[in-house]
Amino acid sequence: MPDALHDTALHEPDQALHVEDLTVSYGATPALWDIDLDVPRGVMCAIVGPNGAGKSTLIKAALGLVRPVAGHVRFLGREVGRMRGRIGYVPQRHSVDWDFPTTVRDVVEMGLYRSLGWLRRPGRAARTRAMAALAEVGMQDYAERQISQLSGGQQQRVFLARALVQDAPILILDEPLAGVDATTEAVIIDLLKRLRDAGRTIIVVHHDLTTVQSHFDWLVMLNVRIIAQGPVRAVYTPENLRAAYGRQLAMIAVPTEAP
Ligand code: ADP
Repeated sequence: MPDALHDTALHEPDQALHVEDLTVSYGATPALWDIDLDVPRGVMCAIVGPNGAGKSTLIKAALGLVRPVAGHVRFLGREVGRMRGRIGYVPQRHSVDWDFPTTVRDVVEMGLYRSLGWLRRPGRAARTRAMAALAEVGMQDYAERQISQLSGGQQQRVFLARALVQDAPILILDEPLAGVDATTEAVIIDLLKRLRDAGRTIIVVHHDLTTVQSHFDWLVMLNVRIIAQGPVRAVYTPENLRAAYGRQLAMIAVPTEAP
């Protein structure tokens, strides 16, 4: 008998994310210009580029949170509106209202709402899943704390746990490592790599060029336009870094030229 889930997987296209001719503008100047992008399934992809390059805008436009001037986007061959619950999104920390009075466990259970339906209250099964996800990110002891009482790195882990309970095939994270300590960074990267190894696609806006090669296997370099995209070893080159970062490059790590 055919296995429905397996069957669906077989018919999903190879691209987790496909973007065509995407242009986004907040005013007169474009934040993104004519972006063509493909992120294959099952990679751990970093999006890098200087401040203001349009990295967050690319994520938001792909998710339908910002309206583009032109272009179209597909996740696993579908429009984003048909991907409900199948994309886990962890926004930038400063874009979230952390004073909202809610416990850590509530935040994680919110990740289940799509599968539960809005009218059904989360029960014991939801609690078990939320606690398992919190354990995965090392935050099980904080379940009943107010989210506002946690450090930035801990809040980031809780948001990752919320994305985990969704069990989504695609995870998108906007600067999850910004301002977190080394332990939290290791926990997050370890977990993301395990999810990638289990076949999920991980897309991360990343600011630290020194860890691109150790953390990621796929790379998108952006500066309003796409500078380069592909496997890290092919894309992380001095030429591409110069093209993306220009004069800012003196301050950052440049790989040595291949012999
Ligand atoms: P990055 O994430 O690479 O730092 P962003 O996508 O945040 O870049 O921003 C790209 C450009 O768009 C920047 O010049 C930024 O100032 C501008 N921008 C971003 N969000 C808005 C907004 N809501 N309104 C107006 N301009 C914006």
